[in-house]
Amino acid sequence: MMDLKTYGYTEIQEIPDGLLPGRITEVRRERFTVMTECGEVTAVLKGVFYHSAETREDFPCVGDFVLLQYNESGNSLIVTVLPRYSKYSRADDSGHAAGYAKTLLEQVVATNFDYVFILSSLNRDFNVTRIMRYLTQARQSSGQPVIILTKADLVEDYNLPITEVTQSIPEVPVHVISSHTGLGLNELDTYLMPGKTVVFLGMSGVGKSSLLNALMEKDVMKVQAIREVDSRGRHTTTHRQLFMLPSGAMVIDTPGMRELGLFDAEEGIRAGFNDVEELFTHCRFTDCRHQTEPGCAVLTALSDGSLLRERWEHYLAQQHENKYVQGKTGYLTDKRTQNKPIPRSSKKSKKKGGWKN
Ligand code: GDP
Ligand code: ZN
Repeated sequence: MMDLKTYGYTEIQEIPDGLLPGRITEVRRERFTVMTECGEVTAVLKGVFYHSAETREDFPCVGDFVLLQYNESGNSLIVTVLPRYSKYSRADDSGHAAGYAKTLLEQVVATNFDYVFILSSLNRDFNVTRIMRYLTQARQSSGQPVIILTKADLVEDYNLPITEVTQSIPEVPVHVISSHTGLGLNELDTYLMPGKTVVFLGMSGVGKSSLLNALMEKDVMKVQAIREVDSRGRHTTTHRQLFMLPSGAMVIDTPGMRELGLFDAEEGIRAGFNDVEELFTHCRFTDCRHQTEPGCAVLTALSDGSLLRERWEHYLAQQHENKYVQGKTGYLTDKRTQNKPIPRSSKKSKKKGGWKN
């Protein structure tokens, strides 16, 4: 018999007779995979859940501890969701949820995790402002934040970014890792103790799948080869969403968690690249692509050094990422239409007479 403590369960209340505690490891539509002391079972919700769409946050999700009416020969029934000690949710304002236009429904995407690993890559998307935004989210979730700077193998010197992070965020531990070389992974052992649960937060492409694979010591998650607009499900061979690591710790990786990261990517750009976007207003043409156009303020700033090339490339990479985001969900697209880009029409030459300098 499996001990559910392995999955982080602590008995905080007496279990009524006939009910079996378990932890949800996977959700597919209305079907749940639940780990119990009798092994992994498939479960559905007891009717009462279906009739309370307005309390959608009560809906079970990956990470939840639940009580089941166990059924040996068919689907078990989830009758109770036990109190959550941490959770991530997002406001689902997509409007198509149960037909409530504009009703804000909370959608819980992961629960009962101990640590929130905030991933940020050292090479091109390094941005302390964004890390701080994730930190705010992490604190709201009640998980304990840990900052993980990824892809250390791609940079020569990471002392500067570390200093930047520790100065801005002195009270949160920071670790530098490379999932490719294994550098720094052993530092994470302190968190990855048996029964502990971790979620990853970070933009698409920072290396969440790669870290999960490295910690699992095998490939359970598809790593992005090329960035492109693809279908939203990146879970390939497996639909599992709660992974048991060899160390005995667990990682929750749900599409919902990933969308949280994607959504934030966009906000992160605004917070972090105001100076770059300000330049655009000085380009001669509103549809300037900042490549070869005459009167381009970006090219000017690059050539006189007032805009660093790395920073510009950084910005472009982020934009690229955003295109990927755009195709992802209606939720994100709705949000985006509130901030329409400048229409691509040529304005009358504001500054006559060629180059600014
Ligand atoms: P996710 O979108 O956050 O899950 O990111 P992925 O794990 O899919 O990684 C995105 C890209 O970054 C892939 O091309 C990975 O090979 C690459 N990558 C991830 N971790 C590392 C690392 O430690 N070093 C290097 N050089 N590349 C990495
Ligand atoms: Zn320009």
